[in-house]
Amino acid sequence: MIRFDDVVKRFGDHTVLDHLDFSVQRGEKVTLIGPSGSGKTTILRLLMTLEKVTDGVIWVDGKPLSHEYRGEKLVPAKEKSLREARKNIGMVFQQFNLFPNMNVLQNITEAPVHVLGRSRDQAVERARELLEMVGLSDKEDAHPTQLSGGQQQRVAIARCLAMSPDVMLLDEVTSALDPELVDGVLGVLRDIATSTDITMLIVTHEMRFAREVSDRVLMFDAGRIAEEGTPDQIFETPREERTREFLKAVL
Ligand code: ADP
Repeated sequence: MIRFDDVVKRFGDHTVLDHLDFSVQRGEKVTLIGPSGSGKTTILRLLMTLEKVTDGVIWVDGKPLSHEYRGEKLVPAKEKSLREARKNIGMVFQQFNLFPNMNVLQNITEAPVHVLGRSRDQAVERARELLEMVGLSDKEDAHPTQLSGGQQQRVAIARCLAMSPDVMLLDEVTSALDPELVDGVLGVLRDIATSTDITMLIVTHEMRFAREVSDRVLMFDAGRIAEEGTPDQIFETPREERTREFLKAVL
């Protein structure tokens, strides 16, 4: 579903991703862990096409995301191809990023109606199903400022799912929340992970959550994968000193 092929990302002369190769299978749930600054968020932002690769190619569902074909040749993608290529990818951000001037129902139905061309009735029906799933059926008329952080994040998750993404990217989705609100959000994500075949790429510091939902864990260090394995391998028997140090610091 996703393939990074020798991807390099530099900001100025700072190399953030250093000839990175990895793949994620369709339906797989993969967690990215590693110290701050190791490049995890940059990977999600490249997939969302919020950043461009410096070198290498990113593939999604067998098609180039970062590039487009000119004849037989791959050239950096233009804005239009980028928009087209990312349309099956959804992201949930640390800071929720809800539309502040819209109520909950409008937040969820806006893109399905305007981007996917769904009818308003269809979009509202789906939004209500999703609100039930995230436990917020009674909040459809509320505005974001009337909701707790945990509730806002659950709306953001519903909004992401309303676009029926094949790939869902989760960037530290609980780190802006008060501690007592974290479990509610993680519970919703756990349900999605176990009950859908959406491919999920998760950046998190919640190691218990990573352990429960991931099929595979990638440990990053300085823009490269230091170690990868099943959650049991990584958390119980890490092979690399770097992974052991990191886990000791966060667990
Ligand atoms: P992580 O998610 O693992 O904490 P990031 O991918 O956010 O790491 O960042 C990796 C490195 O890239 C950091 O050193 C960060 O400062 C740098 N970086 C990220 N975005 C930018 C940017 N837009 N301009 C300059 N440097 C950036």
